[in-house]
Formats: sequence, C-alpha cells, structure tokens
Amino acid sequence: TPLSIQAYELFQQLSKIVQNTALTNAHDKWCYPWQNPEYSSIKMYHQLQEQEKAPPSFAKIWKCTAMLRYKIFIWLLLHDRVNVRNLLHRKKIILPNYKCELCNCSTEETTLHVFWDCPFALSCWDSGRSICGDSAILKNHPSIGGAQEGDWIHLPAAAWGC
Ligand SMILES: [Zn+2]
Repeated sequence: TPLSIQAYELFQQLSKIVQNTALTNAHDKWCYPWQNPEYSSIKMYHQLQEQEKAPPSFAKIWKCTAMLRYKIFIWLLLHDRVNVRNLLHRKKIILPNYKCELCNCSTEETTLHVFWDCPFALSCWDSGRSICGDSAILKNHPSIGGAQEGDWIHLPAAAWGC
C-alpha cells in the first residue's frame, strides 16, 4: 500500500537523520539530547514540552485559583471531552435520542450547545455575571455581555455540577 502523506513526511525526516549520522564500529549506546547518558524524566518532559506550546488560554486555566477539579473539567471542555450526548454518539453509545435534555428543543446536545447556546447555559452565564462582574468571556457572549479574567472558570464547572 502507498504511504500516507504523514508517513511519507516522517520517512523523509528519518532519511535526513540517518544520512547525517556517521556510523562507526563502536557499540551502540543510549544518549539523550541533553548530552548526558543518565535518563531524567524532568529533562525529557522539558524536551517534549519545547515542541508543543499550549495555547495561552490553557495556561490561564492551570494558573487560576479555581479548584483542581474545576480546572480539569474546563480542560476536558476545551478538548471536547465532556460526555455530552454528541460525544456519546461519537463513541457509538446508543441512546433513545441525542437531543438536549435541558431545553426540550430538537437541538443535538453538543458541547457548544450545552455550555454556550442552550437557554440553560444562558441563564447560568447570566447568573454568573452577578458573581464575577465583567469578564472577557462573558463580554464575548452574544446575549449577556459583561467579568475578571479567570473567574469565569468557576462558572461552568459549578453550574453544571462537576
Ligand atoms: Zn439545550
């Protein structure tokens, strides 16, 4: 079978690495990019982290003062991994229907609907406005407007009972 584009690109990268490697008769040995034969999980973590920078919004989640379970919930939310019916459908879990239970409309229960568009979500965000004041996320909501950055993280987690 032909190579996929990604496999071909990886093959090209590997070819360059092999071409630039001088072979000797010496025995092979493990070495790491930090030029020390000792493995270090911290150094490996930093090595891998250099290649992947998280978007700034993710850093804000982990730096805010919310409880850890709220932070994890928001992280799952941003990765579209909260078990709303749409996700359950994608996981091939059979349910009588995949509509939103909170508003009795015919809209499929997606993450975006449950946490942003659903009338229940609007009422949660609206009640959060009185708690948090003006934040960027609430200002950006089309039907609410109006809170301190980072405070909004408490809202969805608390409102949706995680
Ligand atoms: Zn709804």
